[in-house]
Formats: sequence, structure tokens, C-alpha cells
Amino acid sequence: MVHIKSAHEIEKMAEAGRIVASVLLAVSRQVRPGISTADLDATARDLIAQSGGVPSFLGYGQPPFPAAICASIDAEVVHGIPSPKRILREGSIISVDVGVCLDGYHADAARTFAVGQISPEVDRLVQVTRESFWKGLAQALPGHRLGDLSAAVQTHAEKHGYGVVRELTGHGIGRNLHEEPDLPNFGRAGHGLRLEAGMVLAMEPMINLGTRRVLMLEDGWTIVTADGRPSAHYENTFAVTDNGPLVLTAWQGEETA
Ligand code: MG
Repeated sequence: MVHIKSAHEIEKMAEAGRIVASVLLAVSRQVRPGISTADLDATARDLIAQSGGVPSFLGYGQPPFPAAICASIDAEVVHGIPSPKRILREGSIISVDVGVCLDGYHADAARTFAVGQISPEVDRLVQVTRESFWKGLAQALPGHRLGDLSAAVQTHAEKHGYGVVRELTGHGIGRNLHEEPDLPNFGRAGHGLRLEAGMVLAMEPMINLGTRRVLMLEDGWTIVTADGRPSAHYENTFAVTDNGPLVLTAWQGEETA
């Protein structure tokens, strides 16, 4: 069942979303060669605690996720587990995914950051992954269908020859981190659930430089590309409104195209 949120609930989620954005911004400023993913997680935990929120991911699922952020380096697509042993290296990319619960409402977002100087090829992957989100978001209007968003993401990514991950999807979000409906990053325009004002969704393209195929590591969480080539991730929580989509997890002045 898809929960339609009231304006009051959307404002609650926007408050959680502002914390999410502040965490991503703080982490982005910390990303550099030599820092560990556990250091980034510590920054996120501190900031979330100071803001009065609770990390949505900590203890989530089975086995319980052990951190506040997912930190996924290079061929890791999503759900990488922070560790003091995972040290960032020049030329890598890292996707950071964070969820915050405030007063019972969740918000969820991810960005992919460059560690120092990255190759033009990988930089383009990161940019196109971000663009594919905004192409999809432009379709997030009442009366449109979920497939319109999915197809816009897929078309933009595949136009560049990239692999679109199919095993993981975006999702509804609200009092639960993951709610109905699933929001795939591939699909057919004109198909699927019809959007209504008050739906709140997290759309999260996971785009691979090579094959779309992925594998799960033995830790039960980390998803990696089957061919070992890099993958990028970009996510925002947004509300469908009569005045167009309202993004709840971008920071002030952030690039939105
Ligand atoms: Mg998500």
C-alpha cells in the first residue's frame, strides 16, 4: 500500500532531509586520499546525533547493518560497510548513502564523490549518473506513471553506454525507510503506478561503467559490479506535489541538473 503524506508529514521529512544533506556536505569536505570510510561514518554519526536524529541504516536488515552510512568504493555499487581498513586512494570514487530518522520520519540520499583527481571516463560516469536522476525527476508529476521516471533514467544512462543495475531499486519512504512502491531505474514510459500529490519517493540510479550485472559479497551487504569496473550512485528523497517535485535532501546551492 502506498502512503500519501500530508503537508505536515512532508515538512517532517524535509527536516530529516536537511540533516541528510548536511551529512553529505560534511562528508564531501572530508573525502580525500588517506581517510578511512570509518572516519566518514564517525562524522555522519556525530552530525546526526547533534541534530537530534537517528541513523536509519544502523541496525537495519539482516545481518544488521553496522554503520550510519554506506560507503561504496569504485566497483562497489551500494551497501559498502565502513571500516578503518578501507582507506581512500587518489583516483577512486566513493558513494556515500545516508538515511536519517527524525520524529519518526525518514529521509534517504546518496552522492558519489571523487577522491582527488579521477579519470575523465569515471568523472563522466559520475556526472551522467547524477543527470539521470534529474531526468527522471522531471517526470515526477501527478498523473505521470512510475515507468516515466524509470524510462527517463534508463534512457539517459544507456545513451552513454552504461549498465543500469536492475536488482536494486528506489522506493517509497516515510515512517519506514523502505515503503511501497519500488522505483526501478529501468522501465517503460506510460506504465506502472500513477503518481499522486503526496507520494514521497527515493529515486536512486546505480549506474555501472561496464556490465549491469552485480554480485553480493560474503558480508551479506556489499554489492559489487560483476566485471570489477566502477559504479556510481546518486539518490534524493522527493515529494510529488501539484507544483512539481520537491527535493528534500539537496543542500543549499547544490548542483541540480
Ligand atoms: Mg534509498
